[in-house]
Amino acid sequence: MNGLMMQWPLLISSLLVHAERHHGEQEIVSRRVEGDIHRTTFRQLAARARRMANALARLGVKSGDRVATLAWNGYRHLEVYYAASGSGAVLHTLNPRLHPDQLSYIANHAEDKVLFFDLTFLPLVEAVAARLPAVKHFVAMTDRAHMPAASKVPNLLCYEELVEAESDAFAWPEFDENQASSLCYTSGTTGNPKGALYSHRSTVLHTFAIALPDALSLASRDVILPVVPMFHVNAWGLPYAACMTGAKIVFPGPGLDGKSLYELFEGEGVTLSAGVPTVWQGLLGYVDANDLRFSTMTRTIIGGSACPPAMMRTFQDRYGVKVLHAWGMTEMSPVGTVSILKGSQKNLSGEEQFQVQCKQGRAVYGVDMKIVTGQGEEVAWDGKASGELMVRGPWVIAEYFKGEGGDPLVKDGEGRGWFPTGDVASIDPDGFMQITDRSKDVIKSGGEWIGSIDLENIAMAHPCVAMAACIAAEHKKWDERPLLVVVKKPGSELTRDELIAFYEGRIAKWWTPDDVVFVEAIPLGATGKMLKNRLREQYGKRLVESS
Ligand code: AMP
Repeated sequence: MNGLMMQWPLLISSLLVHAERHHGEQEIVSRRVEGDIHRTTFRQLAARARRMANALARLGVKSGDRVATLAWNGYRHLEVYYAASGSGAVLHTLNPRLHPDQLSYIANHAEDKVLFFDLTFLPLVEAVAARLPAVKHFVAMTDRAHMPAASKVPNLLCYEELVEAESDAFAWPEFDENQASSLCYTSGTTGNPKGALYSHRSTVLHTFAIALPDALSLASRDVILPVVPMFHVNAWGLPYAACMTGAKIVFPGPGLDGKSLYELFEGEGVTLSAGVPTVWQGLLGYVDANDLRFSTMTRTIIGGSACPPAMMRTFQDRYGVKVLHAWGMTEMSPVGTVSILKGSQKNLSGEEQFQVQCKQGRAVYGVDMKIVTGQGEEVAWDGKASGELMVRGPWVIAEYFKGEGGDPLVKDGEGRGWFPTGDVASIDPDGFMQITDRSKDVIKSGGEWIGSIDLENIAMAHPCVAMAACIAAEHKKWDERPLLVVVKKPGSELTRDELIAFYEGRIAKWWTPDDVVFVEAIPLGATGKMLKNRLREQYGKRLVESS
């Protein structure tokens, strides 16, 4: 017997319709590429997204066609988010930090038909345009006054002219909620990038889940500033969640330095932000150097890579900003876990609570997880034993776009598919998951595993260390030993021996790194994560060469 409820497909356009109807006057503030601060509302967002949907139709975009963006976080980007997905096309956010070869591979693989870009990326678009035969229209996301006088991009269109030429009458089409809505490629370190193709249903369910109090706890009273780019797994879902909850949204545009961010935090009354650990280093450096405080920000989401506990302490103890440590993946839309204490943990000591918070956290409803041995046997949730983390759920991929790389899932005894995350983790009896490493970054010393994240976190707690990566270096006796690659804070003095001595009493002796290399900078990937494979290529033989 079926239930007798209405059939109401979970479509992304419904988020916008809700925002317009119930939070029409809520503000959207953007720092623009043109240099100024722009203000609009959800009501205007909805009207302009409808105009853009008409424009897309006029450009010949059909249901299922891919519409690409190369853009910072901003209101025009948000309009394209809703116009493309809402009208049945697939939004494809390209990461401008990728190498042009990788970028053109991805755009060609996706067969992008229209490419929207911020003026910042004009040189990049000029460099790749000739290599993108499927792209029929290039649109500069600006007004007539700021259009480039001469450009090598063929038939360059002006965003504002497209919007102004259209009516704001457009009825969002109704279709199957399983239809594709957006596409993100993983910036894999080996092999070609692979596409995660989200659906309307997966996106809306993910939005419900991340808004929950034990997840990112979003409300209409919030002012959200996503530092995480809209080209990094849809800014972790915040552009959708802002419409669902009616929160004010503040877009930093290209201004990701500490000073620009701080000005927006304070000027716009931001209550919540989100980003990878490396971006917060710049902000905290600026705030510290100028002896500033946050007057409205109460919490920040940190994920994408492990949040060093030292950074968490600085945010919480010094600035009163609570850190929500979250874990996820492109293949998971992306949120999987968030570290929020349970009621039963409220009597733990401050330090015990902090240790729980440092973990990657509990699964949000909609994500099922387990850890398994190399043979696929489930590992106990005792907080000690570790194994590969596997996940499943309605916003986890079942396969990659165009079947790239074959079937990614591993079947369990009952024939259910699980997605292997490639992360090595333990889960404690309360369900808090803790990642010790990416499986490819684990250091195997004499047959035993050493987790590089723990070793990096200790180095990051040293007052002279700005950034630290720990890699597996080849070793004659132990096969591999930990080697630290460290960037010192400007003007600070620190020797190899001092840093090694800092590990004493903080970790098992045999986990202590064998050596330290001081460098000017650690290479970062397109989403701000440390490129440890690059460091391994460079320093992986250092211990065998020096012995
Ligand atoms: P991506 O799909 O590029 O966002 O990368 C996903 C990967 O980032 C995960 O599989 C983890 O290895 C890593 N990651 C994401 N969040 C965290 C976190 N909070 N702690 C440790 N690693 C993380």
